[in-house]
Amino acid sequence: MKQHRVTKAEYRVFCDEVRRLIDLFGLMDWSVRFEHCQTDNAEAQCDFCVENNAAVISATVFVDENADQNFDPICHARHEFCHLWLARLEWLATCRYLSGEEITECVERMCTQFEKRTIA
Ligand SMILES: [Zn+2]
Repeated sequence: MKQHRVTKAEYRVFCDEVRRLIDLFGLMDWSVRFEHCQTDNAEAQCDFCVENNAAVISATVFVDENADQNFDPICHARHEFCHLWLARLEWLATCRYLSGEEITECVERMCTQFEKRTIA
């Protein structure tokens, strides 16, 4: 299967956009590390620990050419930023014994909606 390599330049654009949004939204209490590594099931991902306010935001190295979309660093950065932005809400909701699936689906829908918006 042919693959598209996510370049260092694309990765830099991805990281810069996430950092710009972190600044814009004032999420300075988070410790965020970036990784350019092969991810499992997505072109990018955000893993977080709310108790420690720590997150790892990753961009994949290879994208299958048959995937629905090529790696778009800005869109992926906005999507993963949204996961960081909503992390606490997601965690709190899960802790309070609400339906975790409902909350996660809601968060995913919000992330996708936000991904499509343009922030000047
Ligand atoms: Zn997502």
